[in-house]
Amino acid sequence: MIPAPATLAMLGGGQLGRFFVSAAHELGYRVMVLDPEVDCPAGLIADEQVVAAYDEAEALAYLAKNCAVATTEFENVPAIALEVLAQHMLVHPSAGAVAIAQDRIIEKCFLRDHGFPTTPFFVMHEASDLAKISEDLFPAIVKVARFGYDGKGQQRVTSLDQAKQAFQQFNAPCVIEKMLNLDLEVSLVMARNAEGETACFPVVENQHRHGILDISMVPARASKNLLDRAKYMANQLAEKLEYVGVLTVEFFISEGELLINEIAPRPHNSGHYTIDGCITSQYEQQVRAMCGLPFGATTLHSATVMVNLLGDLWFAKDNGHCVEPQWGLLNKIPNLKLHLYAKQVARSGRKMGHFTIVDANADKAIKMAQIARRAIGAKD
Ligand code: ADP
Ligand code: MG
Repeated sequence: MIPAPATLAMLGGGQLGRFFVSAAHELGYRVMVLDPEVDCPAGLIADEQVVAAYDEAEALAYLAKNCAVATTEFENVPAIALEVLAQHMLVHPSAGAVAIAQDRIIEKCFLRDHGFPTTPFFVMHEASDLAKISEDLFPAIVKVARFGYDGKGQQRVTSLDQAKQAFQQFNAPCVIEKMLNLDLEVSLVMARNAEGETACFPVVENQHRHGILDISMVPARASKNLLDRAKYMANQLAEKLEYVGVLTVEFFISEGELLINEIAPRPHNSGHYTIDGCITSQYEQQVRAMCGLPFGATTLHSATVMVNLLGDLWFAKDNGHCVEPQWGLLNKIPNLKLHLYAKQVARSGRKMGHFTIVDANADKAIKMAQIARRAIGAKD
């Protein structure tokens, strides 16, 4: 167990890292953030930011010398950086688990080989692989194996020809997945420790717009049977990965069947609701998991709806000029909690903040979230 006031290393300085820093501070820890970008959201509030590339040897040596344990908020941190750190200090999650989550080909094959249900898919390393694809896979989505997020690095295709074009455009290994009719998307954030104990947060229901998460709500509107199964699958998966730390599992529910879409080796956008809706947040749990503390209670105390605030809102009014949204309209709502990430520049599709509505009544929370969303100019 690593007690406070030890210094914790966080690889990545985005909003997930920023919430981690706050949670670590509350528990009395210090945090050193590694991120190549100056004034990144987590770096702004960390005890120290090392501004360097994730694989820079000197920066990693500095973290290893000054921190007790390291974690990540970003799955695209080179797994090799975590391996280097692991030679000198504790690292949770392990480089091996992160390496699986950061490559869709490895991830999908790991899921299939361990018997987890996934979307039907096919791996493309070179153009000639396309000759082996069955016509049944179309319509489909071509996804680059690495560095895709928020629907980026994805192309919807209806024919072999289009798939070939998309593959040539990406010019990198890809998976091609059957396009499914989704009844619902849900995700589950959990933590697992070295003894194999786990703590799952309630399953959350997610709605996406243009491939980016828009709204998350708990309780998820799915049958108890499906929710129990999601929890069972996530536990099995964490065990197979020998995972230590916080893990997120994204699921599709298609024609009543639960499939694993993808995993993230860290807290997740869809788990922001835990800050305001649960006794312990996913970020506090990340601190607890990496330091070997007992897990905090994951109990949901209220229905919670989270709405993402994208950079588009900054351009919604005034002829496309960048104007700060009128936060006063949200501040007026007493059960609304606003979280802004202190990003220096607003861009279309960029996650700038979020708010949650917390209410005893789930239907009321959803209605209020929609009213609040519209009030600041979000499009329907
Ligand atoms: P990322 O979250 O890394 O951008 P995902 O693979 O989770 O990538 O895709 C983003 C969103 O696109 C999903 O949450 C879902 O809404 C939609 N999507 C992705 N794959 C499929 C699919 N095979 N069938 C239907 N919808 C999909
Ligand atoms: Mg996803």
